[in-house]
Amino acid sequence: MNIFIMGAPGSGKGTFSSRIKEEFNLNHISTGDIFRENISKGTPLGLKAKEYTESGRLVPDEVTNAMVADYLKNLPDQKNGYLLDGYPRTLDQAKAFEEMTNGTDQAVNLILSMDVPTEVLTKRITGRRTCKNCGEIFNIYYKAPAQEGICDHCGSPLSQRKDDNEESLKTRLDEYFKNTAPVIAHYEDLGMVTHINADQEMDAIWPLIKEAIQ
Ligand code: AMP
Repeated sequence: MNIFIMGAPGSGKGTFSSRIKEEFNLNHISTGDIFRENISKGTPLGLKAKEYTESGRLVPDEVTNAMVADYLKNLPDQKNGYLLDGYPRTLDQAKAFEEMTNGTDQAVNLILSMDVPTEVLTKRITGRRTCKNCGEIFNIYYKAPAQEGICDHCGSPLSQRKDDNEESLKTRLDEYFKNTAPVIAHYEDLGMVTHINADQEMDAIWPLIKEAIQ
């Protein structure tokens, strides 16, 4: 099964991606995570992506497409497919991906659209804290760690993403509505989208996702 998980910033893509990849044994590719990792290591890709990601703008398509193509070439084949999180985010990326994969076993089968009203997203984003060590995601408003700033799972310090502030969020939402919403509409026309009401308790959302995948 090959899945795109799509939605606005703060819609729960990252949180549920971890559960989906464990439950269904999928390769998880998060383009945002790859950019952040490259930025923190100072690689050439990181240098190209830095100013875009930190201000909330999209990294240019040719950079992103080349990076995804590279990941797809190197997927470990013992898994049951992939979960692409944060890609495609523009119609040009969707077209490039289709050209690359149509007619192969890497073509996408399902698009999950995580739907959350815009007004809910701000608190989700500005309250988000992530453990750099184990990847666990907390939120100071909705899912606070037992000890402030410390991961409940592994005891490492929590950090806030550079782009999780109100100014970058505004840009990210603008990018989402201008560039990414049309990608969902494109796959809707092809009858491939399952909408998930992601404005609910996590325990209510998970069965909807599992049902869509099964
Ligand atoms: P995310 O972690 O998915 O919220 O992505 C964080 C940032 O990485 C975005 O705001 C963009 O700057 C960049 N990014 C991630 N995925 C893409 C993509 N498919 N196309 C362009 N930029 C991306």
